[in-house]
Amino acid sequence: MFLLAFLCFALDFTAVASTDSAGLSPECRIDTLLYNGEHAINMVFAAEGYRSGELEGFRKLGRGLAEYFLSAPPFSDYTEDFNIFLANTVSDESGISSPEEERNTFFKVRAGNHGIGRLLVPEDIGKCEKALDGLLPGWDFICICVNSKEYGGGGGDLTVVTGHALAGEVLLHELGHSIGGLADEYWSAAEFIGEFPNMTLSPDNAPWSGIPGTGTYPLLRPDGSTAAYIPCRTTENSAYCKMGMLGKDFCPACSKAISAAIEEILVNRRRNVPDVL
Ligand SMILES: [Zn+2]
Repeated sequence: MFLLAFLCFALDFTAVASTDSAGLSPECRIDTLLYNGEHAINMVFAAEGYRSGELEGFRKLGRGLAEYFLSAPPFSDYTEDFNIFLANTVSDESGISSPEEERNTFFKVRAGNHGIGRLLVPEDIGKCEKALDGLLPGWDFICICVNSKEYGGGGGDLTVVTGHALAGEVLLHELGHSIGGLADEYWSAAEFIGEFPNMTLSPDNAPWSGIPGTGTYPLLRPDGSTAAYIPCRTTENSAYCKMGMLGKDFCPACSKAISAAIEEILVNRRRNVPDVL
């Protein structure tokens, strides 16, 4: 029932949906960039800080990001396993909020979170997810595309990118967080240290042990002490994995974690969809 409704909706390229469930903008057009069927994973690129007359800029950014995403390993192994949509969510004002200035935007994304200027996070993640529930039931991953050329982004429950020249690389890194559940392979803050597929506090029992091409290297705090252990060598100016530095490939540990997460979703999806559909 749920999936049938989603399928009908998804096949309508110019469908207009309405929602006031989150008290946000009442109108949004959904464009379908790629449709591989009801078993596929639903990735949504959504506009943030774009007024109605500015949405062509968002669509251009979204199309470019989708192409970049599908051509980069390990995601390029799954081009037939994703559906990709553009949610033309309209904001009343352009750009995003900062500690200095409030903007009335759809997802209320704000720069300067945790004291990190480039870290972009929506004001209320639950509210964003509820808004997308109304617009595109069945979404799996949301990438909020901010109307800004500034370098920045965020990952976790939702992915946030800007229109910066490195946006494609930022997207892949943030999807490492959002899809693969990965940690940054560099020091950012104590609250981001813990147990992840690519970070451990127990080097003798690392989750990536046995994966060829990995090692066990200390992740250092600014004072030089060891905060945790990661599968790649990382220094202040270099790293060997996209979770440590943009422009690098994902290391074997991260690549495997992302692939495993995608395949787990696909297995569960196929298991849960009755053949009669
Ligand atoms: Zn890695």
